[in-house]
Amino acid sequence: MTSKFKSDPILNEQIDTKFVPTEYEPLGKEVYIKKETALDAMAGDGGYEEAYLGDHLRFKMRREGKRFWAGDNISDFLHEGDKERLINEATEAFELVLDRLLIDRENDPNSKGTARRLAKMYFNEIMAGRYDPSPDCTAFPNDSKDRYEGMLVVRSELRSMCSHHHQPVTGVAYIGILAAEKLIGLSKYTRIAQWCARRGTLQEELANDIAREIEKATGAKDVGVYVQAQHGCCENRGIMAHSSLTQTTVLRGAFKDDIGTKKEFFDNIKLQQDFSPR
Ligand SMILES: [Zn+2]
Repeated sequence: MTSKFKSDPILNEQIDTKFVPTEYEPLGKEVYIKKETALDAMAGDGGYEEAYLGDHLRFKMRREGKRFWAGDNISDFLHEGDKERLINEATEAFELVLDRLLIDRENDPNSKGTARRLAKMYFNEIMAGRYDPSPDCTAFPNDSKDRYEGMLVVRSELRSMCSHHHQPVTGVAYIGILAAEKLIGLSKYTRIAQWCARRGTLQEELANDIAREIEKATGAKDVGVYVQAQHGCCENRGIMAHSSLTQTTVLRGAFKDDIGTKKEFFDNIKLQQDFSPR
């Protein structure tokens, strides 16, 4: 025989949880509760599927001491499919920017898809050099008896963007090397230069980045890079100088130390400019 169930009167008592200030004494010291970090959010239910991938990647890069300035390549931290997800997250953020700019993106037909267009343009075009790995540059040995030992100057057209104003930077880079033990295809010089340019850049840094990547790809120690470009941030805003031109030069090895090599490089640039004026 089972006894009739009786609920516990104390356990089931309706507890009055109303806060009555006079019934409480203040602690007399400040109490801190730790803010939730991206990692905490990921550790919570559902993993980081529920958080932004962008936040997760920023956290990871910070933890590993990886710099992620506008001109830095971060492709090592991206996996297949990440770009698509980052584009979706950036679309959401650009929608908010348009809302804050008081642009009616629901009814203005020209602004309807703008947030997504902007997000795709940043990831796939104007900043592609941040997210894509370096161009594949197969190097061929230059070690035969009749190997080429002269100077090589390649003119590369550039499209970039200033990291201060996100305005277009349009120009050309002249890349010079003294043939080293490796040769890369001629188009690769331009591919490398454009990969460096398609980020948020400063022109001074851009010339350095191109020189460093050309050194890496060719093994050459004698490298010269001359960049001349027009900056949208000087043309469309600020001083509104529509024909201003900025020139930067990086010289390494013989290009820096040997007057003859330096002169030959700049003579070659002049010949190229005569052949194809900007
Ligand atoms: Zn600028």
